[in-house]
Amino acid sequence: MRPVRSNERCLGEYKCPICNRTWMSGNSWPNMGQKCQQCHINVIPHKQSPRKKPDGPYISVPSREHRQDLCEKCKQLGHICVPGFKRGYTVYL
Ligand SMILES: [Zn+2]
Ligand SMILES: [Zn+2]
Repeated sequence: MRPVRSNERCLGEYKCPICNRTWMSGNSWPNMGQKCQQCHINVIPHKQSPRKKPDGPYISVPSREHRQDLCEKCKQLGHICVPGFKRGYTVYL
């Protein structure tokens, strides 16, 4: 498995150390955390793997699937970190 490059979105697996909630994100950034929705602490993914096909196929999901308020990358950028974002929808693998 090739390593995840720092400028590339990947699949991240998260586990909150406080409430033990686990979640996965297809919009995970290396060395960047996402906040636990319950505890609002920043959680660094314990596992990240490259997305199988970075350039497709894509599916559309409602934009609420990506929580900008919980995403460290969005905060760093100052806007949503999902490329191809359209009002009401985000597009990611
Ligand atoms: Zn938690
Ligand atoms: Zn984001």
